[in-house]
Amino acid sequence: MYKQRIAIVGAGAAGCFAAQRILELCPDVAVVLFEAQDRPLKKVAVTGGGRCNLTNSFQLVTDLREVYPRGHQLMRRLMYSWNQWDTMSWFEEHGVHLVIQEDECVFPQSQRAMEIVGVLRRELDIRCGNRVGLDDLQDYDAIVITTGGSRNFSWLESSGVEIVPPVPSLFPLRLEPSGLEQLSGALVEDSVATIAGTKFRAEGITLITHNGVSGPCILRLSSYAARYLSEQSFQAPLVMNWFGDVTEDDALELLHSMATENAQKLVCNTHPGQLTSRHWEFLVSRAGIGREVRWSGVGRKQMNRLASVLTADRYKITGRVPHKEEFVTAGGVSLRSVDSSTLECKSRPGLYFAGEVLDVDGVTGGFNLQAAWTMADAVARAVAERFK
Ligand SMILES: Cc1cc2nc3c(=O)[nH]c(=O)nc-3n(C[C@H](O)[C@H](O)[C@H](O)COP(=O)(O)OP(=O)(O)OC[C@H]3O[C@@H](n4cnc5c(N)ncnc54)[C@H](O)[C@@H]3O)c2cc1C
Repeated sequence: MYKQRIAIVGAGAAGCFAAQRILELCPDVAVVLFEAQDRPLKKVAVTGGGRCNLTNSFQLVTDLREVYPRGHQLMRRLMYSWNQWDTMSWFEEHGVHLVIQEDECVFPQSQRAMEIVGVLRRELDIRCGNRVGLDDLQDYDAIVITTGGSRNFSWLESSGVEIVPPVPSLFPLRLEPSGLEQLSGALVEDSVATIAGTKFRAEGITLITHNGVSGPCILRLSSYAARYLSEQSFQAPLVMNWFGDVTEDDALELLHSMATENAQKLVCNTHPGQLTSRHWEFLVSRAGIGREVRWSGVGRKQMNRLASVLTADRYKITGRVPHKEEFVTAGGVSLRSVDSSTLECKSRPGLYFAGEVLDVDGVTGGFNLQAAWTMADAVARAVAERFK
C-alpha cells in the first residue's frame, strides 16, 4: 500500500515535535526529517543554559500580548488546541518528570536539556547533514518547514510567501558610560524600563552589567521594541524607574518623609530598602547631592531632581549586546501568508510552516518553545486530517 510521504525541513524543536505528533495522530504515513547540521536539536540542547525551560505555567500572564510581542493572536487561537498543560502532559507521558519553578518557568526535573532532546528525537527518521530546498522535495505529499529563525529567507521566495524582514530580539542593552557600569552585577528587583518617546515599556528585574543593562526586564523591552530598535540602529533614550511602578510624586513624598525622619543623617547613608546602598549612593550623586550633604540640607530643587533620578533616570542606548543565553529572531514568514488554523501556505497547498521560521516570537521564560510545540501540533493535526 502507498504510504503518504511527509518531509520536514529542520530537525529542531518544532520539526521533531511536529514529526512526533504526526506519527501519533496518523501512524500510517512516512515522515522524513532533513537537518542541515550534523545533529538534530542542537539548539534545544543548549536552551535554558543546558536545562531547557520548555514551557511556562502562564499563571502570571494576563494577556498573551505580554509574552508574544509578535503572533499573540495566532497563539491565542492555536493554544485552544495545544497549550502549556498539553505540553506538560505530553512530556510527562513520555517519561520526563517536570518541575514548575516559583517564577512559573517549567524545566525537566533532571535539569538536563538532553533529556528533552532524547524524547523528541526518539524513533524518528532524521537525515542529518542535509540542507534541502523546496526543489529537492517535489516527490513528497506534504512539506513542513521548521527551519527556525534565520537571516536568509530567499530560498522560500518561490513558494510565494511574504517575508517580514528578520531582526534580533531578546538582547541586553549597551549604554553610554555614565558610571552606572561601576555597579556591574547589581540586581534591581522591581524596575520599569521604557524607551523615551515610545510606548515600549517592560517591568521586572534589571541586572546592571559592565557595559549596560540586562535581566528579564531589559530582555522583555528589547523584545517589545525589537523592530523599533533595529530601525534606530540600536540608538535610543532609555528611561529607568528604579522604584518600579512608583510615580515621581509618590517618590517625592517618600523622600520628604525620609528627610523628616533622618534630618541629621547623611543622605547617601540612608537608602530606601528597595535599592542597594551602592546604587543609592550612585543615584544621589547623579542627582547632584554631595556625599557630605545631610537631609536637612537638601533643597527643593535637589529633592525634585532626586525623585526624578529615582523614577525617570535617563540613559543613552548605544547598541545591543549579543546574548549568549537566549536569542531569537523576530520576523520571518508573514502570518498573512498562512492559514491561521492549519499554518498551511495560502499560495502553495501542502506546504506548512511551524516554529520560529514564522513571524512569531516570545519573551524569555519558556514562551518560545511553547510556541514551537503549539504550532507544530497545529501542523500535525492539519497533516493528519489531510491524510486520514
Ligand atoms: C542559547 C539559546 C537558549 C534558549 N533557551 C530557551 C529556553 O530555555 N526556553 C525557550 O522557550 N526558548 C529558548 N530559546 C529559543 C528556542 O530555542 C527557539 O525559539 C526554538 O528552538 C525554535 O525552534 P524551531 O524548531 O523553530 O527552530 P530551531 O530549534 O532553530 O531548529 C531549526 C532547525 O532547522 C535546521 N535548518 C535550517 N535550515 C535548514 C535547511 N534548509 N535544511 C535542513 N535543515 C535546516 C537548523 O539547523 C535547525 O536545527 C533559546 C534560544 C537560544 C539560542
